[in-house]
Amino acid sequence: MRNTRAIVPLFELSAPGRRGTTLPPSDVPYAPMDEILPAAARAHARSELPEVAEPDVVRHFTCLSQLNMSVDTHFYPLGSCTMKYNPKRNERLASLPGLLDLHPYQSESSHQGMLQLLFELQQMLAEIAGLDAVSLQPAAGAHGEMTALMTAAAYFRDHGRKRRKVLAPDSAHGTNPASAAVAGFDAVTVRSGPDGYVDLDDLRAKLDDQTAVFMITNPNTLGMFEKNIRQIADMVHGVGGLIYLDGANMNAILGIARPGDFGADMMHYNPHKTFSGPHGGGGPGAGPIAVRSMLAPYLPAPLVAFDGVRYRLDYDRPKSIGRVRSFFGNVGVLVRAYCYIRTYGAKGLREVSENAVLNANYLLSKLKHVFPVQQGDRCMHEFVATAAKIKAEKGVSAMDIAKRLLDYGFHAPTVYFPITVKESMMIEPTETESKETLDAFAEALIRITEEPAEILHSAPHTTAISRPDEVKAARQPRTSWAR
Ligand SMILES: *Cc1c(COP(=O)(O)O)cnc(C)c1O
Repeated sequence: MRNTRAIVPLFELSAPGRRGTTLPPSDVPYAPMDEILPAAARAHARSELPEVAEPDVVRHFTCLSQLNMSVDTHFYPLGSCTMKYNPKRNERLASLPGLLDLHPYQSESSHQGMLQLLFELQQMLAEIAGLDAVSLQPAAGAHGEMTALMTAAAYFRDHGRKRRKVLAPDSAHGTNPASAAVAGFDAVTVRSGPDGYVDLDDLRAKLDDQTAVFMITNPNTLGMFEKNIRQIADMVHGVGGLIYLDGANMNAILGIARPGDFGADMMHYNPHKTFSGPHGGGGPGAGPIAVRSMLAPYLPAPLVAFDGVRYRLDYDRPKSIGRVRSFFGNVGVLVRAYCYIRTYGAKGLREVSENAVLNANYLLSKLKHVFPVQQGDRCMHEFVATAAKIKAEKGVSAMDIAKRLLDYGFHAPTVYFPITVKESMMIEPTETESKETLDAFAEALIRITEEPAEILHSAPHTTAISRPDEVKAARQPRTSWAR
């Protein structure tokens, strides 16, 4: 089926005189190998690598690339992750030589355009948040959480109020308690009630003068807007604590509700979710944070500043927690976010969120009779359905259904998160999907419920591998084809 033996012959590629055209012509003498690599570090025998022709190499890697599912190839309703389409236009703009070929060690005067773009992005993100200052440095949403918590810790220290606890609801993303621990706090869980909202009595019981921050995701991970958010913010502020908004679900409320207006003091954005940047193996991310003015002095340095004539990097920030990432952040991703926001404008961003919410509610209404949604029959941009009924009736789990969806040509929804719902399937269609796609997905899910259980237990049947041990695959990855 596939040529599984084709690997680039590295020995050949590195041999002098056979290098690519960008390297010096072969009449330029190379330094002798002895001077470059000590003898002990050199290979003394030629490695046994397969020798294959270019077409075989191309086919091998092209086939490998096609084994994956992506937003460009399949509907990808992975709840909480907001897998919306990545407009190719933003890729082209981010690849313009004037943006792409810059080097971070260039003088400020020679990249005024990039600094202007980053400065304007800081301002736009502050406005969308309803907050005052923005750092573009963090490299992912989770990194933004940690950076904001470090910023909060510096604020409390500076005010002589060292505080120990960071609270988060039991429906929170695992990164919330992890970030709290990494930033040096004790992570404390607050219960959600049966209605899916934060249990105010439990919150009240856990608030005290050691509470630094309450981290809240709003809309929450059940796809519901925390209707008590104002009261929650008042309670937390009442004990001198701060509200952190996990902004992963901003796609539901752009231009409709601003975190700063409903009580948040700081938040992160996930540009790869909300602003259509590419998601990529945990790599090419960014997680800008926005904060209220009293926290601004502690943000990582530098921020991008403008004096009315020139843009510059402001390192003169004596209370800053320092750098959390090299250079100015993941600028390529930030450029894409800038292009996205400028393309839609304020009115367009609101429409993005309205359509995201509409699409999710459309799917919810088509599916709730087979996969009940415990928390009501309306949602924001995503909803959490449960397969508990079908599990009880015929022993088919949310995992079986997720795996079977691959055979129908759909990426699975998020399963088993949030952990507060049994056999959960968290479905987020995003605004970039057509009614036809949503109909086809709903039809596939309904057909799956009618299939014999044995077919589902052994699914998927059409993929190169079926059910790997995911923990083992992550801990002991096998990265070669050797048997
Ligand atoms: C995705 C997500 C995060 C973490 O963001 P990354 O950019 O993946 O680090 C945090 N909280 C929620 C609710 C999320 O969905």
